[in-house]
Parts: sequence; C-alpha cells; structure tokens
Amino acid sequence: MNTATLSYRLGTPDWERRYPVLVGKDTVLGAVFRWHRDWITLTSEGERNIGRPEKGRRGVDQAAAHVVDEYATGRITPVSLAAVTAAVPTLDGPVSLLHPRMPQTPRNIEAATKALAALAVHRWTPYTGFPGSDNPWWQECQLCGWQGPRYWSHQRGRNGELPSTHRHTGGCVGEEKVRELIPAYQRQQ
Ligand SMILES: [Zn+2]
Repeated sequence: MNTATLSYRLGTPDWERRYPVLVGKDTVLGAVFRWHRDWITLTSEGERNIGRPEKGRRGVDQAAAHVVDEYATGRITPVSLAAVTAAVPTLDGPVSLLHPRMPQTPRNIEAATKALAALAVHRWTPYTGFPGSDNPWWQECQLCGWQGPRYWSHQRGRNGELPSTHRHTGGCVGEEKVRELIPAYQRQQ
C-alpha cells in the first residue's frame, strides 16, 4: 500500500485535544495530540512521542501522516474510537502533584506546587496532577460545580495580578459573588 494514495481525515478532538485519525468509512487508526511542543501518536501500539514538527509543517498533519504510514506498512491495526478518546477523569481521592506524563524534575515540582496552591486559593479542584501550563487540565469550579478543561497559562494571573473573575463559560455565580467568596479579591480592593 502506498501512503500517498491513502487519504485520511481528522475527527473531532476530545477535551484533551486528541484528534482521531480516520481512513475509509470511519476506520480509526489512532489519535494524535500535542504535549508541550512535541506531538504524540496513540495507536494499537500505544503512545509514541514523535517530537516537534518540521519547520513549516503543522504538527497535527505530520503526526497524522505518521500514523497513516504506520498503518500502511502494517505496524499498527485499527482501533475503536473509544480506545483513543480521553475519558473525563473522575475524582477518587487526592490527586498526584504531577500528571503522569510530567517528569519529576525540581522545576516541574515547583511549578506544580505553585499551581495547586493557587487553585486552592481560587477555589478550583483539579482532577489530575499538574499537566504543565499549556496542556488541558480537567478541573471543577468549587463555587458552582462547573467542570471542564482549563489551561494554567490562561488561568494564572498576568504579571502578579489576580486571575480574571470571569471563571469559565456559563456564568458561574456572578462577579460580585466571586469577589465575596474568594478572599484574595477582597485584599485587592
Ligand atoms: Zn463556577
């Protein structure tokens, strides 16, 4: 089979921004997603980090082409869509400091400790360990119960300022109540 003749398409990304890679009539070959600056493929053979994209090439395309090539040469087999879709995490007990894919380096431990302390102040419950600043992080709003993926890079305040009182889509409890329930905003006034 020649890769050039095998056209693929990307499915709808899940909450972790994993893109399913499909060929033919809904045959799922795997999924691809970004992790920091690298791209990771998830197939019947597990996860594989294929590194940064070549200059001028979109990472998602390069990673998807890699998956198609693995299939064309018989190294992987199709999978179910569910097998490569990130499940919504459930909370059963305390979460670890770092996401399992984050190396236990002093720098990561320090960043995670800071992030978790700030989440506690701002009334967010993380469902997994710290995934880094630019990866989706599933959290629950302690003020209203909303759940969804958050990005620490957007969530932390800029230049030492407090994060926006606009906590997430859907309104939350309103700005006044947010300021009332989170003491950090009162000290700011
Ligand atoms: Zn809320």
